[in-house]
Amino acid sequence: LTTFTDEARIALDTITERTTGLFVPSMRVGVTGLSRAGKTVFISAFVHNLIQGGRLPLFEAQKSGRISRAFLEEQPDDAVPRFQYEDHIDALVNARTWPDSTRAISELRLTIEFESASGWNRMFSAGRLSVDIVDYPGEWLLDLPLLGKSYSEFSHDAFEMAALPVRTDLSEAWRKLSETIDPNADADEMTARKLFESFAAYLKACKLDERALSTLPPGRFLMPGDLEGSPALTFAPLPGLENARPRTGSLHAMMERRYEAYKTHVIKPFFREHIARLDRQIVLIDAMQALNAGPGAIADLERAVTEILACFRPGRGSFLTDLFSRRIDRILVAATKADHLHHESHDRLQAIVRRLTERAVARANLSGADVDVLAMAAVRATREGTVKQGRETLPVIIGTPLEGETIGGETFDGKTETAIFPGDLPAKADSVFEVGGASGYPTNGDPTIRFVRFRPPKLEKTAEGVTLSLPHIRLDRALQFLIGDHLA
Ligand code: GDP
Repeated sequence: LTTFTDEARIALDTITERTTGLFVPSMRVGVTGLSRAGKTVFISAFVHNLIQGGRLPLFEAQKSGRISRAFLEEQPDDAVPRFQYEDHIDALVNARTWPDSTRAISELRLTIEFESASGWNRMFSAGRLSVDIVDYPGEWLLDLPLLGKSYSEFSHDAFEMAALPVRTDLSEAWRKLSETIDPNADADEMTARKLFESFAAYLKACKLDERALSTLPPGRFLMPGDLEGSPALTFAPLPGLENARPRTGSLHAMMERRYEAYKTHVIKPFFREHIARLDRQIVLIDAMQALNAGPGAIADLERAVTEILACFRPGRGSFLTDLFSRRIDRILVAATKADHLHHESHDRLQAIVRRLTERAVARANLSGADVDVLAMAAVRATREGTVKQGRETLPVIIGTPLEGETIGGETFDGKTETAIFPGDLPAKADSVFEVGGASGYPTNGDPTIRFVRFRPPKLEKTAEGVTLSLPHIRLDRALQFLIGDHLA
């Protein structure tokens, strides 16, 4: 807690900074999405393109030449790990490998020096903006609904979800084990751990399953951060509680206490210290993977987006409202990896994301925030071309597939450029939400999009030997929406 003198000093510092011209406006941009959605790649490309002055025709301040410089500065929060930008760029640019993915929260401050477009602003603004980029796992965000749930409700919901047909096989071992447990028996550490391990294994199996099932809480069971093994992370739902009050010293009492500790020591501080201070948010989704897996996975992705959006703008009377110190006023839902499709399908991908987001916004009862959608590639690993097949000319994408990737029986060595016909997305966005929809899309078992993972691109050099920034698709539109108005 800050003392009165702290508060006074902060106020004084702010006044001095303002009068001496040292005050630099800042904004906090949250970057989230479920694991492997593309957060690390997005932040690396975002910063690289600004520092290197990349090609960003739809990012107005850059296009009109008003940005004089962008550079990294020390971040404001000393207790949060720094986003390891240099390592990630080294992997992408020099080794041409994908960087290590997000495993916990991290932060990076990018400061932009610019000239305001209007004379009025030029007179009164410092011409500097600090953007604090906050990277965190979407899995952690999906914990927020637990704040409104008692331990019995959490247990009841967990067993209900586990019994759904799509999950019965994955949850069987844990459900069988739970049947042998008496919640009223004496508390025992080994039983607690066995139950936790079995439950966590089931959650992980859902995550890895090719049906691309959405994430179930608690999020730290999938992405523990630095709390692995602590009692607050060693609990599991118990069967048949029905609001029964736990007997002191019972397994039920122990589990309930740990569940409450998880809420108090994990979820609440994370929310208060990080989420509640954000100004803008981008939610990355892997729509390509879901499209490949079929309508069940699309429905699941929609559920996850609904839950994520509901966390940002809770309605009146929600238990979350009190925890917010600022209001997020813009949210961008972006499908990354559009470079796996020919550009003719980019608008189709965007239309699908739009439809999915509209449904999610309506269901999450979200109001007051500007929500936009985008299909993009933070790093474009492919280029486009055409291939003649008989009389037909087919649009293809060309890139270097990662070593070990296969398509149609061919295995790639990670060195050779290959042209791949990626397939088309349906023209009607709605059809991907229906099983066997009008367009017959998607076909069961046979993916409509041919999907191989490519290596990051080889960067081009100018005639003077200067390496150009990372190529992208529509990254500039994302930047314009997220920070463009603060550079006006
Ligand atoms: P995170 O878990 O959200 O941090 O995900 P990453 O940013 O590490 O991305 C996961 C993987 O998705 C990467 O290793 C890449 O294989 C792929 N990926 C992410 N963004 C892009 C992109 O813009 N283009 C392509 N081709 N692949 C991407």
